[in-house]
Amino acid sequence: MQTRKSGASVTRRLADGSLAFDFRYTQNGRGPKIRARARLAADGTLLSYSAEGMQERGLPVQESFAIERGQARWKSLEESGQAELAGPAFYMPMAGPPELLGLLVTALRRHGGELALLPGGAARLERERPIAVKSASGEEKRLITWAITGLDLLPVRVFTEEDGSFFGVADEWFSCLPPGWSGAIETLVGLERELEVERERALAAKLAQRPPPAGLAIVNARVLDRENRRWLPDHTVVVVGSRIAAVGPSRRTRPPEGATVIDAAGKAVLPGLWNMHTHNHASDGRLDIAAGITTVRDLGNDPDRVDDYKRRWDDGSAIGPHLLRSGFIEGRGENAAASAITAETPAEAKAAVEAYAARGYEGIKIYNSIKPALVPLLARLAHARGMRVSGHIPAFMSAEQAVRAGYDEIQHMNMVFLNFLADRTTDTRTHQRVTLVAEKAGELDLSSPEVKSFVALLRRRNTVVDPTMYIFELLFRSRPGQVLPGLQEMVARLPLQARREYRMGGLPVPEGKEESFQRSFAALLAMLKILHEAGVPIVAGTDAPAGLVMHRELEIYTEAGLSPAEAIHTATLGPARVMKRDRTSGSIAPGKDADLIIVDGDPLADIRDLRRVVTPCAAA
Ligand SMILES: [Zn+2]
Repeated sequence: MQTRKSGASVTRRLADGSLAFDFRYTQNGRGPKIRARARLAADGTLLSYSAEGMQERGLPVQESFAIERGQARWKSLEESGQAELAGPAFYMPMAGPPELLGLLVTALRRHGGELALLPGGAARLERERPIAVKSASGEEKRLITWAITGLDLLPVRVFTEEDGSFFGVADEWFSCLPPGWSGAIETLVGLERELEVERERALAAKLAQRPPPAGLAIVNARVLDRENRRWLPDHTVVVVGSRIAAVGPSRRTRPPEGATVIDAAGKAVLPGLWNMHTHNHASDGRLDIAAGITTVRDLGNDPDRVDDYKRRWDDGSAIGPHLLRSGFIEGRGENAAASAITAETPAEAKAAVEAYAARGYEGIKIYNSIKPALVPLLARLAHARGMRVSGHIPAFMSAEQAVRAGYDEIQHMNMVFLNFLADRTTDTRTHQRVTLVAEKAGELDLSSPEVKSFVALLRRRNTVVDPTMYIFELLFRSRPGQVLPGLQEMVARLPLQARREYRMGGLPVPEGKEESFQRSFAALLAMLKILHEAGVPIVAGTDAPAGLVMHRELEIYTEAGLSPAEAIHTATLGPARVMKRDRTSGSIAPGKDADLIIVDGDPLADIRDLRRVVTPCAAA
């Protein structure tokens, strides 16, 4: 884990030719412990597989797969099914060691680089650049780099020796390499980063379209008015360069000579969506744009990494939204989250804020282990540099104290509830910050004077709440094997491994607590409505891949009682105002940035239509 030895993966070939795996590692006191067996067919695909033990998140592993008489059957806690095999197919286990990827590479090579996957999808293999690595004892090896696509949202890279035998996998977080070769991690990760940048550049060149100098006109559309309240029927939006040049009724607003014209009859034009809570990865930029998200705020990441995304998304060498940044600041200690920048003293607090100010960040994000005594100083320092202050509420501090100490914004609805549910002994650096709310939020009297006075404080100070409701729906309501109702269509279209992420379930529910969990989520919905009606600004954020679950976040807001227009406001003009970008963003008006989306439907009538974002080439 992050170049530190944290476990081992041992593979043995047994006398009957089958493979036995023992895979385990520990990170922060937990990690997977898996024992598995596999039998291979002559073509390298799996004939049978079984695994038991424990997953990374602590849930049990009980997986089995077998092919008998052309019939494949698989079963685990998260999925089960069967299929008649029409041709060769590789079952990709849910739980197992990285060596399984090596087996998949071998099978793919034997099948000309393409194979159906079980339970679904297909994988393709590409051979990339060779690379030389060196072991601790000075041994040198030349490795082949393989990219498997179709398995996850990004290519999965596997390194083999020149004879094709499995060598290992490596990324910044998790690597698995033969003993003595951990020194190669940096080289391998560096190569993967280069390959990813090249791939993003090639995709940007292929997919991005640039309108002619005369501009672009979207005609005959329903256009959302500048306050995002109602449709302007049969309107035209003219874009020249990167700005909106004109908005008016189609019969009076002529497209400029030579402009590209998109007929959006029957469709709706809205401002591009904002996602105010993201932690970006390389795959996010394209997913965001495809989903209609044109601005995201990153709330915690490796600063070099996020600055690199920003540079490439801005200059067009990769596809991605506008990126605003909040710098993550955490304390140190056993329960602290990993962070490039930490602060335990006033001098370190000053250095942390200055480091992010120098990078041009819009805000700071304070985390669980920051000492409460440092919060007023951090807030003063950030405000003096024009930066916003937001975050988790540090352990042993209440949300009310944090707001009074200078928080402009609170992340996550559980932090609002902990103001009432946590006491002096609650250590919110641990998972208690979620489990306590899952068990007890439903018992809180939302009409009590304490709740009312806290809501009034937020209103008075104009404190913003970024509730990340989807995360709590996932944690409180999702169970292993089930995909949450609002996500099924989206999840069904994902590559295999990404799809499985949505079947893992949320928090384990303690015996007899099912109803409390459900009641607690209902209380979170009720609190959202109370905050909104009191005039506390709500901004939409997902804390998860933006392009995949942003629409669900907004659907949850309407389930809480916001109108679709109000929900859309939390993802357009609302955040633009919070971030002081409303002169250039957040709605459709002449002079604003041309961050526009075309939607095939009427999201003011049914928020679910917001999923039906169309690309201009499809609309034209
Ligand atoms: Zn977050």
